[in-house]
Amino acid sequence: MPEFKTVRGMRDFLPEEAEMMKYVEGKARKTAELYGYKEVMTPVVESYELLATKAGEEVRLRMFAFKDLGGRMVALRPEFTPSVARLVATALRNEPRPYRLFCLGSVYRYDEPQRGRYREFWQSDFELIGSSKPEADAEILMLTASLMEAACLKNFAFRVGHVGVLRGIMSQEKLEDKVQNTVMQLMDKKQYDDAFKVVEEAGGSEKCLVVLRELVELKGGDVSDIVGKMKKCVKDYEEAVAATDNLNEILKLVAESGGKIDMIADAGFARGLEYYTGMIFEVYIPDLNVALGGGGRYDKLVELFGGEPTPAVGVAHGLDRMMLGIQMQETSLGTEKRKRVMVIPIKEELVGEALKIAQMLRSAGVTAEVEVMGRKMSKALEDADRKRMDFAVMVGERELKEGAAVVRDLAKREQNTVKIEEITDKIKS
Ligand code: AMP
Repeated sequence: MPEFKTVRGMRDFLPEEAEMMKYVEGKARKTAELYGYKEVMTPVVESYELLATKAGEEVRLRMFAFKDLGGRMVALRPEFTPSVARLVATALRNEPRPYRLFCLGSVYRYDEPQRGRYREFWQSDFELIGSSKPEADAEILMLTASLMEAACLKNFAFRVGHVGVLRGIMSQEKLEDKVQNTVMQLMDKKQYDDAFKVVEEAGGSEKCLVVLRELVELKGGDVSDIVGKMKKCVKDYEEAVAATDNLNEILKLVAESGGKIDMIADAGFARGLEYYTGMIFEVYIPDLNVALGGGGRYDKLVELFGGEPTPAVGVAHGLDRMMLGIQMQETSLGTEKRKRVMVIPIKEELVGEALKIAQMLRSAGVTAEVEVMGRKMSKALEDADRKRMDFAVMVGERELKEGAAVVRDLAKREQNTVKIEEITDKIKS
């Protein structure tokens, strides 16, 4: 038999890692609850067309796409946004607005595996749909900061930009959408010279090239100063000016909300996904050069799927990368530790009693495992020690006759005979 391994880019989560993932998931769910986002669950497999419609070349080429046995072209979801937009255009179309929707689960991209980059990874996704107002964009930034804080990630910082600035310039220059998309993708990869060349070859004016060159240099932590400079730089391009005003409003609202969020405004910032129409952002921590989350405004997607024209803004957080961040920063998880107990029958005839005591403990919220290997007491106790359990309950005939069992504190190495109905209290105290 060959030794089976996981498929390239896929990982197992062993108990400790799985626990950490559950911890991060729990923080995302809590954030959804606090901000009023309702969870929806959508399929892992969706129609290729839905997923490819506005994803952009980057994601499109990296989809796990295949024909199912019925001959339908399908793919594993590379993100949640198209599924949520589909819901809003169909099953949820008559619900009152705004929609605050939340998804959590695995997504799939044929990325080159490396640290923080996998082919199966987990995202929490928040979508605020139905509002075009800057307070909606601000909320998405704020809840992302709340999630980072809840997960105890330190020194995180946002990089923010606005797709409308670059697109506004290119639209006024009458550059086709296709050219614009190529330019945005090159900018996303910071291949600015290649991007300028595409603009030039597509007929962009000399003035526009000067503006673009100047724009990509504009970035920094004094966001109102940078956005002011952006506005001056694009003054001859009406839509681009409106975009800088919109970005300014959003950042002002975030500041007014009172949260101290580190931000870098970056005029040359673009993101791989094609469907963005407004503010875009990513969140980073020091020493990890990949983003922990990213999102932005996408006002045209719901319409594209046959819904009413519906403005929307959203974010996806990379839970694997948040886990990596927690490990790197050596944050202690502060998870609530339940007491863990091993229940050991002294002989086979007492297994039923041991099972009954274990059930009693579980119903009081105590983790109870029963010795199921038929081992002798000394071996079973060694096993409980190895597993770092808190207590062992030894079920013996003599004590049972008195309605009791022996409770051993494994850390203190002390034991007492305790009435069965008092065992739970003894362990919990
Ligand atoms: P995107 O939809 O590309 O903006 O991705 C949202 C977030 O998902 C990113 O900010 C990352 O945290 C995470 N992410 C994207 N691609 C990967 C990957 N290949 N492996 C792990 N996490 C990823």
